[in-house]
Amino acid sequence: MPNLSFVSPTRNSPWGTYLSQIDAVEPYLGKLARWVETLRRPKRALIVDIPIELDNGTIAHFEGYRVQHSLTRGPGKGGVRYHPDVTLEEVMALSAWMTVKNAAVNLPYGGAKGGIRLDPKTLSLKELEKVTRRYTSEIGMIIGPTQDIPAPDVNTNGQIMAWMMDTYSMNVGATATGVVTGKPIALGGSLGRVAATGRGVFVVGREAMRRLNVPLEGARVAVQGFGNVGSVAAKMFASNGAIIVAVQDHTGTILNEKGLDMTDLLDHVAKTGGVGGFKGADRIDNENFWDVKSDILIPAALEGQITGERAKRVQTRVVLEGANGPTTPDGDAVLADRGIIVVPDVIANAGGVTVSYFEWVQDFSSFFWTEDEINVRLDKILVGAFKGIWDTAEQHRIPLRTAAFTVACTRVLEAREERGLYP
Ligand code: GLU
Repeated sequence: MPNLSFVSPTRNSPWGTYLSQIDAVEPYLGKLARWVETLRRPKRALIVDIPIELDNGTIAHFEGYRVQHSLTRGPGKGGVRYHPDVTLEEVMALSAWMTVKNAAVNLPYGGAKGGIRLDPKTLSLKELEKVTRRYTSEIGMIIGPTQDIPAPDVNTNGQIMAWMMDTYSMNVGATATGVVTGKPIALGGSLGRVAATGRGVFVVGREAMRRLNVPLEGARVAVQGFGNVGSVAAKMFASNGAIIVAVQDHTGTILNEKGLDMTDLLDHVAKTGGVGGFKGADRIDNENFWDVKSDILIPAALEGQITGERAKRVQTRVVLEGANGPTTPDGDAVLADRGIIVVPDVIANAGGVTVSYFEWVQDFSSFFWTEDEINVRLDKILVGAFKGIWDTAEQHRIPLRTAAFTVACTRVLEAREERGLYP
């Protein structure tokens, strides 16, 4: 693969996956294709060392990143992930998907993402706070309410955002609520933000099923990942008549052909930390999750889950991507061959960043909306964006992913062209 000296992507790695998605959209960009190389390079990537003193008195170092893939349409926007497998290449891909996602739903942002290579389970709360504060200081030179606005992602939450907001505010000498989104309500957070990504997955899934003429009532749903995204989406599908037949998380895979009781399962997870050991279901082998018969399959965990091999096995009508980058290029090709519809991440999980945008707007205007206002506006934005993408797919007879990239990349490159090159 060509591209950049500082990463070595392979066909199915995150950056390799993103590059192949850009290759796929190129023929649909018309004259704007002249600018497409812009999308194959992050504008800016910062790697920082994060030293902290652990509770036992030793010094530990962690590797942190903030990548601003594009600032063409507005400030950078995207989450911060804490995970032992985080790499520069992964954060680059995640930042690029934010560029596409923000443009696909027409939010006035570029795309960015951050991450720290660590396992948060091995750190105390105090150590986690130190890492977060030092990381925020180190990336402080490129973030800010009008520059780049981080938010929660895998293994980060409102508490981490509160520490980030406080650290940034202390450094600039003024309370800057708009520097991060996904904050606690008391610090300028928005109602509805915690559930927004899962809610958006449901809204977009509902629209896809409507287009396919498949009723939600009685539809079978399988969910991989039962964190903030998967659990909220599952709950909303269930309360709209669907049957959640299987759930997988880091503690195991559970199956109940008659449908898992969501209230009991959420209770169990709140008490034990995972779906494993849930009494109202059978436990199955993790790999057999991919053989479960469903109408909607929701990967809501990490990247690279639906490989070519697994795509040959899945028995579903619709893959609804709650996670970022869950399907590899090999997986995508097999699903397309088999006529399985993929509703891509850049629209399916855009509910989170959409309510982040609402939070940022509310912080700037210091005027806060009701939860109802937020949910109604979220629904409207996602339904409109999905319609545009569906129509584009029909018009060109292309997969929804390529259609979403067509809509989004056209917006980014139009802005790129209108701004012109500096100097
Ligand atoms: N981390 C979320 C995502 O992948 C949300 C980002 C944000 O709210 O800025 O879309």
